[in-house]
Amino acid sequence: MSPTAERLQAIHERISRALGGVVRPVTVVAVSKTKPAAAVREAWAAGQRDFGENYVQEALAKMAELEGLDLTWHYIGVLQGNKARDVAERFDWCHGVDRLRIAQLLSRHRPAGLAPLNVCIQVNISAEATKGGVAPGETLALARDVAALPGLKLRGLMGMASPSGDTALARAEFSRLRAEFEQVRAAGIALDTLSMGMTQDFEAALAEGSTMLRLGTALFGSREKAAA
Ligand SMILES: *Cc1c(COP(=O)(O)O)cnc(C)c1O
Repeated sequence: MSPTAERLQAIHERISRALGGVVRPVTVVAVSKTKPAAAVREAWAAGQRDFGENYVQEALAKMAELEGLDLTWHYIGVLQGNKARDVAERFDWCHGVDRLRIAQLLSRHRPAGLAPLNVCIQVNISAEATKGGVAPGETLALARDVAALPGLKLRGLMGMASPSGDTALARAEFSRLRAEFEQVRAAGIALDTLSMGMTQDFEAALAEGSTMLRLGTALFGSREKAAA
């Protein structure tokens, strides 16, 4: 077994333990930013299909190298208007939608021959000024607008906990995202994805109902500081 396959297996064992015997689907997005195409290929060989990237140019280069593999690409980086076209054309998912303008650009640039782009609205649950995301009280209004765009399929919400390492705080923040998720669903918008949980806090996220984990370090090892 490759080192990546071993780490992937260990991750799935930790997920099963965290779910405590409850069987429900949890998608692992392997965050491959700063890692070479060879690392993606190795994870693919171990059965991994969903990959997350933060930097568009880096991602496009990797996609070209890996053409022909059945991969699902998630854009999880900061969304700038001038990147919307590449994201809409080349990715399957976009997790960082936090304003209508960017959603409109993504929808407009989504090629007609492709299925609508899967999107998650990013909610700022850690109240850190540096983090993107809509303020929690504004989620429902944005969700209604995004759900109406033809080139997009609104799948759910995405959030990041404070990077403090404080598990109780992370759980409280994830719980808040879960509450937003339930509120949007109660308003009649069909969401199925709660994208929360990274290497440091994914067990807390699972305890609060996460359906999609974005894991980089746990699968690929630490990243070079300069590139992270
Ligand atoms: C880098 C990144 C991750 C993965 O972080 P790890 O701590 O390495 O698991 C997840 N989500 C987003 C938005 C990221 O930028």
